[in-house]
Amino acid sequence: MAQIQNNYIAGKWVAGITSIENRNPSNHAEVIGEFAQASSAQVQEALSAAKQAQLVWQATGLEARLQVLQAIGDEMIARCDELGKLLSQEEGKPFAEGRGEVYRAGQFFQYYAAQVLRQMGETADSVRPGVEIETRREPMGIVAIISPWNFPTATASWKIAPALAFGNAVIWKPANLTPASAVALTEIIAKQNLPDGLFNLVMGSGSEVGEQLINSTEVDAISFTGSLQVGRRIAQAAAGNLTKFQLEMGSKNALIVLDDADLDIAADCAVGGAFGGTGQKCTASSRLIVTEGVHDAFVEKVKQRMANLKVGDALAEGVTIGPVVDAKQLQQNRDYMKLAEDEGCELVCGGEIDDSQGYFMTPALFVNTTNQMRINREEAFAPIACVIKVADYEEALATLNDTEYGLTGGICTQSLKYASHFKRHAKTGCVMVNLPTAGTDYHVPFGGRKNSSYGSREQGQYAEEFYTEVKTSYIKA
Ligand code: NDP
Repeated sequence: MAQIQNNYIAGKWVAGITSIENRNPSNHAEVIGEFAQASSAQVQEALSAAKQAQLVWQATGLEARLQVLQAIGDEMIARCDELGKLLSQEEGKPFAEGRGEVYRAGQFFQYYAAQVLRQMGETADSVRPGVEIETRREPMGIVAIISPWNFPTATASWKIAPALAFGNAVIWKPANLTPASAVALTEIIAKQNLPDGLFNLVMGSGSEVGEQLINSTEVDAISFTGSLQVGRRIAQAAAGNLTKFQLEMGSKNALIVLDDADLDIAADCAVGGAFGGTGQKCTASSRLIVTEGVHDAFVEKVKQRMANLKVGDALAEGVTIGPVVDAKQLQQNRDYMKLAEDEGCELVCGGEIDDSQGYFMTPALFVNTTNQMRINREEAFAPIACVIKVADYEEALATLNDTEYGLTGGICTQSLKYASHFKRHAKTGCVMVNLPTAGTDYHVPFGGRKNSSYGSREQGQYAEEFYTEVKTSYIKA
């Protein structure tokens, strides 16, 4: 049996009370490793250690903080081949995407290393003569980070890096489906000169470790990415304790293709945006809203590109679509395929499932779908895209906005008039013009509207809002 990989609590690697097996979704017979599950007492120990360590970190000089973040980022980038391979092995995205994710995660640390020196306050004159006012930001204290499996390294990094940069302690509960990437990142962080307990890894299930963290009165802020259902649960728990929280959840993103679009660009955007990461992205374009004049030509071009996709083992040469993450998600995909067919959608290509060795599914494209169908209203997190035919731009925009979600939205058009109108009227947090709905930068805010997100934005300078609190000081000389 493989050696069990431990949790990192109060500056030490500690064994758990039980362990779980981590299997390769490209080959479910292959065990990647065994991972410790933290006990309730260990989570409590992490919380107590974090409280002490945070006070030390807050008082640590800015350059020391900067150097820690820079070193973490540099090591991740230097080792992105090795860590990307591990990520692809346990999550199932093709190696190029796994490597790219680790590289991007390193960039988050490098970006927030520089942000350490950009923590500026403001001054004001008081309405009372002789009194001066200053406002400055202080760390929140202990931040609980609950992250998903689909971007196991990048999502965690865009939360951990600003949390540390702004002077907080971190308790990280990664998804139990991707613990190997979590241990690898923690090993890099643990090498740094940090006070014991400033950064803690507590692996375990959402229903145990996750629940303990979101209910703890010792946690000052909770940052979560995952499903809407768990997001709502976190909101309830956090409201009970009046704990600050931010949620990034699901979506039902759409890409609009207008009659005047460059159809090659549009088809590339659709295929990349809908099926990249095996469709398991909160930014995936599962709805393709196409005006009548180009509908058939667009579908043809998408079909041609889909024929060139290669589904297979995430680490095999030339593979562009890896497996689905696990048997549960694959079953959900099967159910959504059946639902689409029951609702009367016409399958144009794809949708074949082979789970004899890994959880493989070829990307599926449906036509003759309407926005009222459940397949176009619920997040499937699957390589399934549905084409919705509309008359014109106005109907396309109304259709895109007719959803409970609002993370990203895209349009393919050569018209400045429509592109400009769309940028202002799409009810989404991110808008893409002639670009896929998936794929964002690391130095600008990321987040959505409606049921896609709650709380202040993540990433870029905007992250400061979540990881700090404002203090107003009045000074009389
Ligand atoms: P979940 O929301 O269940 O999991 C996300 C994280 O939350 C995991 O670390 C999980 O732990 C944890 N968690 C689960 N329950 C609780 C709880 N009660 N309290 C605190 N933490 C908890 O997502 P799933 O992995 O189950 O995926 C289900 C669906 O969610 C997908 O099909 C997709 O639609 C959506 N999703 C969206 C993502 C996004 O990027 N917005 C990312 C992932 C999923 P653990 O699983 O380890 O027990």
